Amino acid sequence: MSDNPSFVLKGINDVVFEQRPIPEVTGDEVLVAVKKTGICGSDVHYLLEGRIGDFVVKSPMVLGHESSGVVAKVGPKVKHLKVGDRVAMEPGATCRACEACKLGKYELCPDIIFAATPPYDGTLARYYKLPADLAYPLPDNVTLEDGAMMEPLSVGVHSVANLGNFRAGQSIAVFGCGPVGLLCMAVAKALGASRVIAIDIVPARLDFAKQYAATDSFLPPKPLEGESKVDYSRRNAAALKEALGIAERGASAIDLVIDASGAEVSIQTALHVVKSGGTFVQVGMGNPNVTIDIGVLITKELNYKGSFRYGPGDYPLAINLVAAGKVDLKPLVTHRYKFEDAITAFNATKNGKSEDGKGVIKVVISGPDVDINSN
Ligand SMILES: [Zn+2]
Ligand SMILES: [Zn+2]
Repeated sequence: MSDNPSFVLKGINDVVFEQRPIPEVTGDEVLVAVKKTGICGSDVHYLLEGRIGDFVVKSPMVLGHESSGVVAKVGPKVKHLKVGDRVAMEPGATCRACEACKLGKYELCPDIIFAATPPYDGTLARYYKLPADLAYPLPDNVTLEDGAMMEPLSVGVHSVANLGNFRAGQSIAVFGCGPVGLLCMAVAKALGASRVIAIDIVPARLDFAKQYAATDSFLPPKPLEGESKVDYSRRNAAALKEALGIAERGASAIDLVIDASGAEVSIQTALHVVKSGGTFVQVGMGNPNVTIDIGVLITKELNYKGSFRYGPGDYPLAINLVAAGKVDLKPLVTHRYKFEDAITAFNATKNGKSEDGKGVIKVVISGPDVDINSN
């Protein structure tokens, strides 16, 4: 094996390419030659601000966590993988011993080693090692690019199928048509949704959502001069329900609402839109301190849930939905860059468009010496 070039964040807006030692694998670990990595909002946050909430970058850290690759080496205890296998890489190695791990909520493990969450290195390198059970073999009809997209898709699976308990015949409304919002819609559609409603303030994003997975879309009205967010949200919810014929109860009510925007007015609006006794899942993260109407929460007996990453069964279901042709990830990859062009790739994600003006949904960076058009 040769070298291990890595894309390292040294400080705010300070990234370099650096040679790192190739990790040694022991026991049940595998070494994966990383082939495709999607860039996510969190990677850009660390680059621009050096932190996300309490996670602060204090020492140099390799970026990237949405990856796939080819197994390059296996530890002596690995049974289900061999060198050359194509795999999706779940980027959080858990302790397996704490209460959360034992209860099957391993996303809440306090000792999780999560790629590109400080102080742990990420996957934008030639090689990354992980426990073998987190390297999921990809079926032949699933590409390596699809494999990298299993990470955000698993976020959608976790929110909709797992926490949202979504069932065939139910209806869903999703606030925010970024990658996670779109993938939540795709999961709901794949699971047999009767109705998938997309809400966003950018008309072009709504158009895309409708082509992709939504059955209906809603463009919120503009706030009035001097109108409070609370008043606006009430008016917005009423307009949405009126426009789309949504009731508070019964067959035309909304069973599950997902906020994938993190915007305060979306969260406020969503509480009015979801049915009595329905479920609200918060997956988008904006300003963490928002005003919500707990009167609505109480009188509707809403299930209000936070969604963090993914847990048991989410990666396998994501892979199965794609392999079965029920979710198509290809339309979401709008930009592809070589490893050496990682900085340009981050800029495109940050700006929401590339230098040629093309809008970004998902940027994928290929591994060192990997053709950007290879699969
Ligand atoms: Zn991500
Ligand atoms: Zn644990």
